[in-house]
Amino acid sequence: MSKIIVLMGAPGAGKGTQARLLKEHLDTTQISTGDILRGRAQEQDALADEIRAVQASGKLASDDLVMRVVEERTAREDSANGYVLDGFPRTMAQAKMLEKLAAEQGHKIVAIVIDVPFELLEKRATGRLSCPVCGEIYNIRTKPPKNDKRCDFHPDVELVQRVDDSAEKVKIRLETYSEQTKPLIDYYDSAGRLHRIDGTKKREEIHKEIEGIIR
Ligand SMILES: [Zn+2]
Repeated sequence: MSKIIVLMGAPGAGKGTQARLLKEHLDTTQISTGDILRGRAQEQDALADEIRAVQASGKLASDDLVMRVVEERTAREDSANGYVLDGFPRTMAQAKMLEKLAAEQGHKIVAIVIDVPFELLEKRATGRLSCPVCGEIYNIRTKPPKNDKRCDFHPDVELVQRVDDSAEKVKIRLETYSEQTKPLIDYYDSAGRLHRIDGTKKREEIHKEIEGIIR
């Protein structure tokens, strides 16, 4: 039986990196709901009109709308042997809809959460600095600039902390993630489908673990 992988992890936990490694090494089909909604909105039909209307209103896409887009996307040939979902499901209603879809498609759902303590995520995120000229990103702890707070490529330019990364904003982002995701994690856990991965390990090790779960 092929698998649907639900990949979860807090902002900064390395979900994006792991998704990329999976694509490179396993050639998995990856489905990011954000990307497909944006792409789908460019087309010319009733569904695209509906997505554009939601986007214009600034509201979040409804569970039903997201589900229809996922259903359409995963009906393609490249998803026949399973796929990796990123950013979906976000709600319990979506999780229930995904159960139905998985049964129809003959796939088994496996949820993977990359666990990193929030304290560490806060440290990681708030240590980020970027060059306002070239956009190069540094990290005080993991990738410091050669000269104190100055870009390696632009020694005259002082690095700035990304506005988005201020401690307060990072906290809010993590709390929002936690509130949204906790019910889903509990759900997959009680269904015996949850794999927790220690996200403080090296990214290659994390990748190997995920690979092991998928195969
Ligand atoms: Zn620079």
